Amino acid sequence: MKSWFKNIGYKMQAWMRGRYGLDELNTALAVVSLVLLLLSHIPGLMHLYILSLAALIWSMVRCYSRKLDKRRRERAAYLRFTGRIKGWFSLQKRRIADRKTYRYYRCPMCRTIARVPAVKGRIRISCPHCDRTFEKKT
Ligand SMILES: [Zn+2]
Repeated sequence: MKSWFKNIGYKMQAWMRGRYGLDELNTALAVVSLVLLLLSHIPGLMHLYILSLAALIWSMVRCYSRKLDKRRRERAAYLRFTGRIKGWFSLQKRRIADRKTYRYYRCPMCRTIARVPAVKGRIRISCPHCDRTFEKKT
């Protein structure tokens, strides 16, 4: 029995050779699929079952795909997208933590956010990215 499982394991390893496998996007698609599947049980939301199935099929197709370059590009785009969202949330968290000691201003030229000490009155801010200066009232 033990060797039977070992054989199955070797066969699956051989079958997966050259295929993409799992990544963050596949995991997210599986989670989305599961959530949509649970939501589809609510009366009136039955159509979510189709979306759940689509997300699951997309996840499976990605997992067993041999087009590694395409899958890596999809992963990079997904990580860029989630990185932007995570960055926004971490900035909001820092803003809340620093709200009594620092102010955050966006540079009008390059849109970079600069953190400056919270002082009373007008302040001249030098952008940390493009070195241009702009004034703000704090
Ligand atoms: Zn700037």
